[in-house]
Amino acid sequence: MSAVRTRIAPSPTGQDLHIGNAYTALINYVFARAHNGQFIIRVEDTDRTRLVTGAEDRILASLRWLGIPYAEGPDIGGPFAPYRQSERLDIYKKHAEELVAKNHAYYCFCTPQRLDQMRKDLEAKHLPPMYDGLCKKIDSKKSKKRVAAGEKYVIRMNVPDEGTTIFHDVIRGDISFANILIDDQVILKSDGFPTYHLGVVVDDHIMKITHIIRGEEWISSTPKHILLYKFFGWDVPLIAHVSVLRNPDRTKLSKRKNPVWVSEYKAKGFLPDAIKNYLATMAWSYPGGQDIFSVDEMISKFRLEDIQTTAPIFDTEKLRWMNGEYIRHMKSEKLKNIIYEFYNKKYPEKQIETVLPLLVERMKTLAEFETLAGFFFVRPPKHAVRSELRTALESSEWNHDAMEKTIRDVAGANAKEIFMELRVAVTGKTVGPPLLESLEILGKEETLTRIPSSAGR
Ligand code: GLU
Repeated sequence: MSAVRTRIAPSPTGQDLHIGNAYTALINYVFARAHNGQFIIRVEDTDRTRLVTGAEDRILASLRWLGIPYAEGPDIGGPFAPYRQSERLDIYKKHAEELVAKNHAYYCFCTPQRLDQMRKDLEAKHLPPMYDGLCKKIDSKKSKKRVAAGEKYVIRMNVPDEGTTIFHDVIRGDISFANILIDDQVILKSDGFPTYHLGVVVDDHIMKITHIIRGEEWISSTPKHILLYKFFGWDVPLIAHVSVLRNPDRTKLSKRKNPVWVSEYKAKGFLPDAIKNYLATMAWSYPGGQDIFSVDEMISKFRLEDIQTTAPIFDTEKLRWMNGEYIRHMKSEKLKNIIYEFYNKKYPEKQIETVLPLLVERMKTLAEFETLAGFFFVRPPKHAVRSELRTALESSEWNHDAMEKTIRDVAGANAKEIFMELRVAVTGKTVGPPLLESLEILGKEETLTRIPSSAGR
């Protein structure tokens, strides 16, 4: 077989890279690497009404940030450039015309009003909204003349009424559709843009894609693609549909319940390696059941057939846990650098380094660095403490054991209460890193500045 080539073909119609697309990107990338193949990106920007400015750049930036490299793409080019469908219109037109010439497609001149009425009539009869084939009956010479005369047209595929279209899905087995239920799908629109179906088939063929791995929401489009491959006389690539990610309540992952854009996870301080690791576990398990593994480890063990079809649950709490594991096991120098960059160099590196040991066991995301350790850098609003406590601390030696003794001597039976009083005064919060260690780092002078005694109020 020829060299393995996989792809994702995102449409720049959302804010950024959807976490579900990040998932299919990972699977495609890992599969290609496992076979010494190539993973590429093609941007499917043919739906001009849904185009979002800047989305393509953000999608590519998110892939780079995640660390899912691609061998060819719209920004880096490659042997099959351009990789943006809006720049390949002549190719689709030529192919659509080829199908018309072979009678596998036909010009359709129906007006939007007619199509609308037809759809309404079908709906009223509870029938699927399929084209009724009116223009299929026009003599081909006549329709060519109408096109030449400048009449507005689309090109539709000529789906046979008889027979079934079957394809084999590597993960799901054989899937078949009765042709009678397949619509004479528009493949070229009146503005000269292809629809998804034509664009995806032509480009996957020209770009020598060997394996199409995509979300299950495309299963119902696949029979149309299979027919197009047949019409062109091309080999069909291997096809696999992975299950779409779900919320813990099993509904489809949606913005209302969870962040869905990769950039949101980045902003919350999730690490690319943890996200990839978590995504990897969605419908696949590492042999032996190990939770934490790298992409390289996954590559060495991955088989497409092992992907499960049960709905994978994307649980942000589990992702947080995994992210925390990555934080805990990271070399402190590296973690310090990452935090320094995450906060745009706002906090001095040296200080990050000093406070990190107190946090590393509890921090699950980088954003929690600020929640947990912000008080080291910014004084909380003033809270007084009882004057005996302040006085005792003034004359205490400034190390863990000495401070502990000092505080306990003042507290007597009230240790818990006094420690809390001190914590709130110094940190502005009721929870946080170990208190005495924090005081050591803050130093005596800074601590005393933060705790005016209540007698002075
Ligand atoms: N453009 C489609 C998308 O938005 C590509 C689907 C496919 O992979 O065939 O995801």
